[in-house]
Amino acid sequence: AHLARIEAVDEKVHAFLHVDREGALAQARAVDAKRAAGEKLGPLAGVPLALKDIFTTESIPTTVGSKILEGWIPPYDATVTKRLKDADVVILGKTNMDEFAMGSSTENSAYGPTGNPWDLTRIPGGSGGGSSAALAAFEAPLAIGTDTGGSIRQPAAVTGTVGVKPTYGGVSRYGMVAFSSSLDQGGPCARTVLDAALLHEAIAGHDPLDSTSIDAPVPPVVEAARNGSVEGMRVGVVKQFRGEGYQAGVVQRFDESVELLRKLGATIVELDCPSFDLALSAYYLIAPSECSSNLARFDAMRYGLRVGDDGTRSAEEVTAITREEGFGDEVKRRVILGTYALSSGYYDAYYGSAQKVRTLITRDFERAFEEVDVIVSPTTPTTAFPIGERADDPMAMYLADLCTIPTNLAGNAAMSLPCGLAPEDGLPVGLQIIAPAMKDDRLYKVGAAVE
Ligand code: GLN
Repeated sequence: AHLARIEAVDEKVHAFLHVDREGALAQARAVDAKRAAGEKLGPLAGVPLALKDIFTTESIPTTVGSKILEGWIPPYDATVTKRLKDADVVILGKTNMDEFAMGSSTENSAYGPTGNPWDLTRIPGGSGGGSSAALAAFEAPLAIGTDTGGSIRQPAAVTGTVGVKPTYGGVSRYGMVAFSSSLDQGGPCARTVLDAALLHEAIAGHDPLDSTSIDAPVPPVVEAARNGSVEGMRVGVVKQFRGEGYQAGVVQRFDESVELLRKLGATIVELDCPSFDLALSAYYLIAPSECSSNLARFDAMRYGLRVGDDGTRSAEEVTAITREEGFGDEVKRRVILGTYALSSGYYDAYYGSAQKVRTLITRDFERAFEEVDVIVSPTTPTTAFPIGERADDPMAMYLADLCTIPTNLAGNAAMSLPCGLAPEDGLPVGLQIIAPAMKDDRLYKVGAAVE
């Protein structure tokens, strides 16, 4: 049924870069056979899923939304891919994304944009717009995204779906193509809080193949999602998450959510986190710096695209020509910015300062979580904007992550879930819930209570 749905609507939505029809049917049949034989089934047996094209999939193309990996077929599965298979999930295909997960609209994909199913002329968010659009268009009931600065939560917000960035280290990064390694985190996307929890549990947990993977039990997210409540909880509202640039309808729905939390028994606490105002600036130094280092591996020798190798050119020339053709504008912009920020003489002023700001933000969170159990905010300052509107204005594009980025810098957990439609445009608004590191279960407890 989901393959038929994809066939019917994906020409318009363009959520998928690759639909693995045969593979999906084979996986579904294998589940049927196991069931018929009375064998033990995985926890998500037979449930279809859309996988962001940033996770390696053995024998299925993985492009990361870039021309530089066009035609590359990975020789191995990412840990997330493997755990999905172990859970007997049926992987429908790979979803569209901003190239190397750099963007907030999926317009930076080398393979063309994805439409927001609520209004196809608008962006589905990014970088994981394909995953969230697939959910909103009923092409898949579950999806996987990655969140470096908001790429799970912001697409969830603007498509009226649920998305969770787990605690950094909670879900393995092995086989997840690196953008900014100290910020990147894979996580679940779904249409309900409980669905997200079931998927979260299937993919989370320690992985010896990822050196930053946390070796501790997975927080009890499913149990929390089944027992939603905010009774007696302290919920923080941060002063810095409002003001100029926030759409009136977004603020209205957010204020109503805070009211609902109060009615359901939570105590609301006003918080001041002054360093959050610097988060965007710190992020746009740290993320490009790490990206400039990570993307050095795309040298035309080891993977994917190779251009200009006609026997007359040196390896350096072939690398340069391939990168010129293979990388898009945003990727080049970030590699240049990051290389500059890391260069000798500028390192302390830029990268070093950004890391200090990162520490200040982490401390703001630590202080806040002495007073509250969770923090809430709008996920994004505005609803989905029209495709093309911010394409030529990187600074305007970067503002989409104003509320999501502090969490990545501090490494704690956050969820976005729908909280109504903005009255002025009828488009979905996201409520963000933020919890301390390894308290991911609180997101689900609160999310299930207000869903
Ligand atoms: N929009 C942010 C960026 O462009 C975040 C992307 C992400 O989370 N992958 O970097």
